[in-house]
This record gives sequence, structure tokens and C-alpha cells, in this order.
Amino acid sequence: MASSTSASPELARADVLVVGGGPAGSAAALLLARAGRSVVLVDRASFPRDKACSEYMSPEAVRILDRLGVVSALEEAGAMPLAGTAVTAARGARLHGRFALAGHRPFRPTGLSVSRRILDHHLLQAARDTGVRVLERTTVETLWRDAGGIGGVVLRKPDGSRATVSARLTIGADGLRSVVGRQMGRRRRGGLRRLAFVAHVDGVAGMGDSAEMFVGRRGYLGLNPIGGDRTNVALVVPAGRAAAARGRPREFFLDALHDFPGVSDRVGCGRMTRPVLATGPFAVWSGRVVSDGAALVGDAADFFDPFTGEGIYSALRGAELLAEAALPALRGPGRVTARALAPYRRARRRAFGGKWAVERLIGYGMTFPSLFNRAVGRLGRRGMAHTLIGVTADFVPARAVLNPVFLARMLL
Ligand SMILES: Cc1cc2nc3c(=O)[nH]c(=O)nc-3n(C[C@H](O)[C@H](O)[C@H](O)COP(=O)(O)OP(=O)(O)OC[C@H]3O[C@@H](n4cnc5c(N)ncnc54)[C@H](O)[C@@H]3O)c2cc1C
Repeated sequence: MASSTSASPELARADVLVVGGGPAGSAAALLLARAGRSVVLVDRASFPRDKACSEYMSPEAVRILDRLGVVSALEEAGAMPLAGTAVTAARGARLHGRFALAGHRPFRPTGLSVSRRILDHHLLQAARDTGVRVLERTTVETLWRDAGGIGGVVLRKPDGSRATVSARLTIGADGLRSVVGRQMGRRRRGGLRRLAFVAHVDGVAGMGDSAEMFVGRRGYLGLNPIGGDRTNVALVVPAGRAAAARGRPREFFLDALHDFPGVSDRVGCGRMTRPVLATGPFAVWSGRVVSDGAALVGDAADFFDPFTGEGIYSALRGAELLAEAALPALRGPGRVTARALAPYRRARRRAFGGKWAVERLIGYGMTFPSLFNRAVGRLGRRGMAHTLIGVTADFVPARAVLNPVFLARMLL
């Protein structure tokens, strides 16, 4: 449980403490520092570091990266333009949605794919360059509270000693297993329990300008070109099945590829360039994203399933919404209250509510193979795939899909 502590020495004091230096944490820290606040960011990792992710970003995510000022650095580092996504259902139906044809003008006709090692490093560096004090290899263990709410954290430094950081606002951007989120309470888990295994493979045959998703009977597989000759290969399976991967993720991953005939041959002729990374289970969200002195952003606030991608977009957009709501409160004195952060909670619902519904529609829909096959086939043949991809890519409003006409044409 979160506790108050005075036993550990104070390492730092700031307007804002950000826990986690992934896209959500770096973006929030950068925006708050850009507005003149003192910001400390802590991460248990040492950057650059890998992250299990398909490493696909929509044009809308690129729009925010542009506002943060990192797009040219990513392009120079080899980020690859991405035209859209193709989906193949277990029974062979196929669709290919392209951002440029979705009917609403995207920020650009293409998204970007780039290794998280590069993306997260550049975002964190941009935050540092804006004045954020970054403490790597520093792990938050617990929140500390007083009568005014959450006042900071107790953390473990690289030398193993404990210290506190005090802040008027503590931001939990510490990902799927958020310590901050768990200690703020009201953590929820969905019924769909899946795990992922992610590899980088050089020389996968037949890669084009789009990501490819293959839905099988016992999970799904994504191929995403991430620059050079490298492909990100991500396998997602139900948690029950993933138990067999314990201690042998690489062997499990290679075995499971055979569930996707045609794809296993294409991947099999390549060469794996790093260990297989495992993560999950997903479908975790928080019923309390703000409290007195603290707020959650990115996966720490919610993450349902990787099929539709866009976790990076949500992390970045969530950071923008949080900074907008927190800045007026930070101009006054004292702890930032839950009340002052209420606009953030509402803005999240407005920004992500439609997307949450579409994610669940797709996530649960694929557990009904013949229905899913029929929907994919109809979407592909009837020219509706571009609209769906535009919705999942966050630049076409969700109502373009969540309406009786679209849903009927998709299924009937
Ligand atoms: C298999 C898979 C594929 C995905 N594919 C895509 C995709 O193609 N496109 C997309 O947009 N999204 C994708 N996502 C989602 C995306 O990876 C996440 O939504 C995104 O990383 C969220 O960013 P974040 O900053 O909230 O968290 P993270 O990126 O997880 O960052 C959290 C940070 O917090 C740090 N941390 C954690 N605990 C502590 C602690 N106690 N103390 C200090 N530091 C701590 C970690 O070291 C980490 O650096 C995928 C996810 C998965 C699992």
C-alpha cells in the first residue's frame, strides 16, 4: 500500500514528477517543462532500451511527434513511412486499408514505423533538452501520501539506496503494470487476457509499404516493416496458451509461427536480430485516472489490446490532454487536486471513448472466426477498409464505423 515516509532522504523536489520515460512520460514531461514548470522524470531502465511493441504509428501519432519536434530526428534515424494495414482473417478473407484513401485528410498520407529503441530515446532526449531532469535506472517503489493526497514517491536509486522525490503533481506514466496506477486504486481487468511475443527479423520475404495482420484460430500475428530490411514480428495469444512459453519464449514463438501457414515461410527465411520479448496480459485500465496530487497517462491509465495499434498515439495524446489540464492548476500554489484535474478525465473520455468502443468491437469480434471472416471480406470488397483504418488510426471519427449503416454493410 502507499504510505507516507520520512525515513528516506529527499533526492529532489519539483513541480511535477513523472514516473516512466516511455512516450507518455517523455511527452508529458516535455510539454510541462516547455511551459516553464520544473520537472523530474524517473525510469527504471537505462536508455536506449527495447520495448515489446509492433512499432507502428499512424499519421495522427506523427502529427503529435511533429508538435514535440522529433519527426526529422526519427526520419534521419531510419523511420520508415507506412501506408496502411492489411488484415487477413483465419478463413482467408482479406482487407487492405490505406490512410490516404480514408476519406478524411490525414496529417500525412503515411504513418511511421521505427524501433522503440530509437523512438523512446529521441523523445526522452527531447524532454531532457527542454530542461527535464532525467534519472535513469531509478525505480519507483511506492507513493507517499499526506493529508493533501499524494506528495511524491519513494524510489530506489542505481546504488540500491532509497530516497524520496516530492512534487505538486505525480504523473504515473509507468506502463501496463503501473505501480502508481495500482496504488491509486480501482484497477480493472477485462475478460480478454492475451500475451505478446515480439521479435525483430531481418530478411522477411514479401514485405511492402503496409503493416500486415493475420488472425489465426489461436491468436494473431503482425508483420511491420520498421526500416532497412528489418521486420517487427509480433505474436499475440490467449494467456492460457502462453503458459507453455515460460522459460522458452523463442522456441514458443517459432513453434507458434506454424499456426500461420504462408507467413511462417516468409518469416522463416529471415534472421532474428534480438531475443524475443514477452509482455502482457493486457486489458487493464484504471477506474481512477486522477486523484489529489496524481494522474495517470498512457498504458498506466488504460491498455486494451495491441491489434489496432495506436497505444503510442494514445500515450502522446493523453500527455497533451494532461498537460493542458494540469498547467492552469500548476500556476497556482500547492498540490494539484483531483478537482483541478477533472477536465483531463473528461477530455480523455471525449478523445478516446469512440476508439475504446471500436477496439473492443474488433478485439472480441475476432474471437468469432466466421463472423470476423465475413466482416473482413465485406470491408475489403466494399471499399470500407480505408474508413476502418482511418478510425483505428484516430483521424476519422469513430461514428463513421459505429453507426447502423456501416455495421449492417459490414455484416450483411
Ligand atoms: C505486443 C504489442 C504491440 C504493440 N504495438 C503497437 C503499435 O504497433 N503501435 C502503437 O501505437 N502501440 C502499440 N502497442 C502499445 C504501445 O506499446 C503502448 O501503448 C505504449 O508503449 C504506451 O506508452 P507508455 O509511455 O504509456 O508506456 P511504456 O512505453 O510501457 O513506458 C513505461 C515506462 O515506465 C518505466 N517504468 C515502469 N515501472 C517503473 C517504475 N516502477 N519505476 C520507474 N520506471 C518505471 C518503464 O521502464 C518504461 O520505460 C503495442 C503493445 C504491445 C504489447
